[in-house]
Amino acid sequence: MTASYIALGSNLQHPAGQLRRAVAALAVFPDSHLVRVSGVYRSKAVGPGKQPDYLNAVALLETRLVPEALLERLQQQELDQGRTRGVRWGARTLDLDILLYGDLQRKSPNLTIPHPAMAERNFVLYPLAELCEPNFVLPDGTELDTLVRDCPLGDLSRTGLQLHHNGPE
Ligand code: AMP
Repeated sequence: MTASYIALGSNLQHPAGQLRRAVAALAVFPDSHLVRVSGVYRSKAVGPGKQPDYLNAVALLETRLVPEALLERLQQQELDQGRTRGVRWGARTLDLDILLYGDLQRKSPNLTIPHPAMAERNFVLYPLAELCEPNFVLPDGTELDTLVRDCPLGDLSRTGLQLHHNGPE
């Protein structure tokens, strides 16, 4: 099994419900085990026009799916939850990204791992840090703690919402 970290985001049509539904789907992905899900964070939308706030979280999924198969499942789930691919960075019911897949470093036309924007996104780094051991190191040798320290909290706030009952490991 490979530890993969999945970023979840939604800013349309009851974002909390969208994230809950996505987590329920991750929990039944084949050849996979949903280990833990971070707390839910509220962030301001980046992108064109005025958009509602986002809710974001990160899930740790142990999986035997290869990255392409995992991406396919995630994209199918986005579609199942009404995602339409319109304006880039436009509002969306559900966005699912692969942040990390074990120690894999990959750059192919449809899949870049680690996710290229993760180092600058507070709404990714803060929830990710909740799931990782202190001193967690990214595949390129960067310490996650260092990225978090260099990434201002800004408008990001942690809500009281919980998406998953994180049991003992
Ligand atoms: P987005 O609009 O953020 O959902 O971007 C989706 C596109 O990003 C898809 O066409 C994917 O093929 C591509 N992509 C590249 N790397 C990743 C990744 N690590 N996780 C998810 N999508 C990715």
